[in-house]
Amino acid sequence: MRLVVLPGDGVGPEVTTAAVRVLRAAFASRGLPLDIATRAVGWAAVQTEGAPLTDDTIDACRAADAVLLGAVGHPDAEHAPAHLRPEAGLLALRQALGCWGNLRPARVPDGLIGASALRADRARGTDLVVVRELGGGLYYGEPRGDDRGRAWNTLSYTEDEVRRIAHLAFRVASERRRRVTSVDKANVLETSKLWRRVAEEVALQYPEVIFESMLVDRAAMELALRPSRFDVVLTSNLFGDILSDQAAGVVGSLGALGSASVGGDTDLYEPVHGSAPDIAGTGRANPMGAIASVTLMLRTTGGLPELADDIDASVEACLGDGLRTDDLATPADASPPVGTHAFTSAVVD
Ligand code: ATP
Ligand code: MG
Repeated sequence: MRLVVLPGDGVGPEVTTAAVRVLRAAFASRGLPLDIATRAVGWAAVQTEGAPLTDDTIDACRAADAVLLGAVGHPDAEHAPAHLRPEAGLLALRQALGCWGNLRPARVPDGLIGASALRADRARGTDLVVVRELGGGLYYGEPRGDDRGRAWNTLSYTEDEVRRIAHLAFRVASERRRRVTSVDKANVLETSKLWRRVAEEVALQYPEVIFESMLVDRAAMELALRPSRFDVVLTSNLFGDILSDQAAGVVGSLGALGSASVGGDTDLYEPVHGSAPDIAGTGRANPMGAIASVTLMLRTTGGLPELADDIDASVEACLGDGLRTDDLATPADASPPVGTHAFTSAVVD
């Protein structure tokens, strides 16, 4: 597999280094070849190359099988001109790759149950994937504007846009517990009526998958009350943005979740967290989100689910042994929290 790593800013380099250590160990354990090139992105690239994302880097990403990104963002960049903002680099990369589907698995590992009130009984058994439409909807709709005390956005979806993300959700569900919950607001929105109709049509092609549609308000409540009832949540750009953060809240730490953006020239994998400037450089970042991104990569792009299973099992075993980074630690833990490097070494071992 040919991989481009974009460590980025803040804790990005710390967590991608950790994930790459795990990935190399997994490939080595099975004698498989792995080709990794590293490039700067974000504020780091502004320092070394004068721009948050260069054409060379875009070309390298396009030519790779997959891209692993850490995070972008830096406190010093706050007053930088728009074209030098780290976030501009990330948006340009997502656009250049043309990814239209976003997968965000949220799983509460058994090893973490009881570690805190938030992760207690209600979260037990949570193992879901939000499949979010990433290329259209409210975030891109035209016209948009702001004039004389009025602001507006346009929410628009085509049947084709809904159909391709729906197929992705059903394919993901086929490999899992075979249940798709399509989330919309079909009692109010025209786009949601179209969404529901197309999702129902696509569902007919996957008779082995149990399908339901749910209004987004009800889905938010169900996710808070009974998160374990969900398997695959299929939804639009806006609803997916909100519900996937809510799902991260069920797990209890932003540091623990990974994501995949697919459908474009090259699949892009990144932890859901940002650059975490408050802990950058302290060696305390949780590498689980970056490692989870790598296991997603092995399953989605790499066709190497056995390797992903090995890694997941290692992480689970480490949590079971009581190892955890600061963000997941509680006063009730038997031993003090460990740093990024120690946690990663344990996973590799
Ligand atoms: P950005 O604008 O880059 O997204 P942010 O401040 O909005 O930054 P994060 O960088 O994700 O969001 O940080 C939010 C909080 O979560 C911070 O307190 C940070 O320390 C914590 N956090 C984020 N990632 C991790 C991680 N991998 N391990 C531990 N804590 C983390
Ligand atoms: Mg953020």
